[in-house]
Amino acid sequence: MKRVRRQMLKGERVPECQICDASEGSAWNYRDYFNSHFQEAEKEVRRATARDGSLKTSPRSLDYRFSNQCNFKCRMCGDGNSSSWVQESLRTTGFSELSQETWEEISKNTERNLIPEFRELAAKGLLREIYWAGGEPLLWEEHWDFMEQLVRSGQSQKVRVTYNTNLSLLSNKGRMLFDLLPHFKSATLQASMDGVGRCAEFIRTGLNWSQWLAHLQEAQIFAKQLPNIEVLIDFTLTTPGFYGLESFINFIVEHEVKVLVKPCLFDDPSTYMSPLFFPKQLRAQHEQSLLIMIANAQEKLSEHQPFLDPLEDLIRAQRAEPPSHEDPSHEFGDAQLNGMRRHLQISRVRKDGQDGRPKMEDFLASHPDSLLWWNCLKDEVLSQQQGETLAF
Ligand code: SF4
Repeated sequence: MKRVRRQMLKGERVPECQICDASEGSAWNYRDYFNSHFQEAEKEVRRATARDGSLKTSPRSLDYRFSNQCNFKCRMCGDGNSSSWVQESLRTTGFSELSQETWEEISKNTERNLIPEFRELAAKGLLREIYWAGGEPLLWEEHWDFMEQLVRSGQSQKVRVTYNTNLSLLSNKGRMLFDLLPHFKSATLQASMDGVGRCAEFIRTGLNWSQWLAHLQEAQIFAKQLPNIEVLIDFTLTTPGFYGLESFINFIVEHEVKVLVKPCLFDDPSTYMSPLFFPKQLRAQHEQSLLIMIANAQEKLSEHQPFLDPLEDLIRAQRAEPPSHEDPSHEFGDAQLNGMRRHLQISRVRKDGQDGRPKMEDFLASHPDSLLWWNCLKDEVLSQQQGETLAF
């Protein structure tokens, strides 16, 4: 860290900054964000940095994840970020990516270090920003305790707060979010949502769409009354969301809500929840019609409502993405077979398609080529599994 700090102060590029380097100029570049929001701190940071790179001042902006406690099991998430995922993994496979030992270590570190450190920083009066994300931060006792502490001490007036929340709750044990937020310098609620109605409930297992919509509308009414409160939708482009994107575009236009968009992480090509899992030529036609739809919807909106620009950028970026795992020598690559195995396992556990529950195929139905490809991949995996059972 000391070396990185020294190099950065000299204006040198460091390999640790490659994510910001790669996204330079985009709307959501961390470096640009912090440089613009903490410009006034630069002189002080330079003064407080010793020749060896050590720094004798306190952080102004905090992003602490106290816990992975979460009431949802979104399909693109996993054990590391959601306690509900951990419970399901343990119940159905007896195994979790987050081992009991790791979890105990994280909990001990939170108790021994993070919470006292947070309290100490809050007491110093230097905090200017908190980013609450999780897990689901509104489930955490610590979140409510700290927010109340900042209000009681009067420091909240200097602090910007941003939430990355699934918006399943707006209060906890009688403590109401909308009672606390007006005391802060500003507050941004980034409500995670990746589809509409049944599509949203499929992606975000645990979600009740009607309840979520009621919370969004409540938050929007609250934000209209106070200039320092903002409500956004934090959208991840997943497979069902991509094939149902028309409904989501209509939704954000109708509800006049801005979106932050991001792709579903595709560092592993077996990630079936990313549209990039599908062959490029199968996506191309749909991407093209989405771009036309966005352009038409843009025309209906005033220039002061640039809600759709980020979605357009995301679709264009996806279109430009080279096929990363398509293997011309096989009908299906190993990554695709593994992705389908994973999907089938989760689908069985969550009883997709039973008792009125939606299933992945419902969202592909309006795109026959993609549905056919998906079903062939599924048949291939099911026949392999059948062969394995017979051999056993
Ligand atoms: S709400 Fe967030 S943390 Fe919880 S499962 Fe969904 S993506 Fe993961």
